[in-house]
Amino acid sequence: MKTNRSEIRKQIFDSYSKNLELICDRFKIQFGIKSEKGFEKVNEKIYVCPLCFKVFYELDLDQNRQNPLTIEDLPPKSIRKSILILTCKKCNNEAGYKFDYLIKQHVKTDPFLKGIANSMISANLNLNDKKYIKGQFKILEDKSLLFELPDSLTSFLNDSFENLIKNWSQKPFTLQFTVPQIRQVELAYLRIGYLIFFSYFGYLAVLDNNLKMLREQLLQPSEEKLKNLGIIYNLEKKNAPEGVHIIKQPVNIKTYLVVIDVSDKSLKKKIGILIPGPGEKGLNCYRNFISLKNSENLELVNLSSKDFLINRDFINAYYYFYENIN
Ligand SMILES: [Zn+2]
Repeated sequence: MKTNRSEIRKQIFDSYSKNLELICDRFKIQFGIKSEKGFEKVNEKIYVCPLCFKVFYELDLDQNRQNPLTIEDLPPKSIRKSILILTCKKCNNEAGYKFDYLIKQHVKTDPFLKGIANSMISANLNLNDKKYIKGQFKILEDKSLLFELPDSLTSFLNDSFENLIKNWSQKPFTLQFTVPQIRQVELAYLRIGYLIFFSYFGYLAVLDNNLKMLREQLLQPSEEKLKNLGIIYNLEKKNAPEGVHIIKQPVNIKTYLVVIDVSDKSLKKKIGILIPGPGEKGLNCYRNFISLKNSENLELVNLSSKDFLINRDFINAYYYFYENIN
């Protein structure tokens, strides 16, 4: 049976509001609203947007409201069927689309810039100061460059191109294409990693100060709140599956790690996003890892197959695994 988007939204809303309810129950927390009559306890189910931390009610699932809860598809969609969570429309619109685009751009242009065989980009080849031809450039196995022209060229471009070919060796030529800023790309990965982490561990994890630190950076992307965003690129050799892991060894860099696969026609990459464990120890290990810049001898434990969200005994999974996996 096909589930429609509104049913999916309702299911996600229910699981995470249950997660919040279990946490409140266990730690004796109450949500309330301050009014003229004083403190009024909220008895309805609530969902807190994991990015802006605003509180939403079930009626905010109605997509006609000003700032409803919206589905956030976390790329890549192959993880655990697909990971879906809700963020408010404002948070989703502000970053979701822009960041997805940046990652696509990065995956496309990065191998070409590194000269990897079979990588391909769309670019403009400048014929002179004013004229250019749009086309596809591909790096071949022998490292030569193949330029695929569009099907039809105006006679003017055709003549200019013929001219360029004749004088190929004497004239420098320029290629123009857009490469995203690496800081922006890393913010995009951090956002995905943070949200995937939330999708596994629920509210207790994102309430921790160390995750608050990541969130504050995500909410103010133009400010450099964190100098290094903890993104690891060379994870291919580790062969770790997508999902949430804990790095248990070396012990001085014990940190959570979200692994995602990103791929394009010419490239498959494994990206790791570091997520600090709780408390001072978690923060120190996270900082140690970042200054180490080496991901060679890591021992990872995969935590992705387990379900913590609405399991009463595991709602503190974020703290529990960090303490107990040694
Ligand atoms: Zn929000």
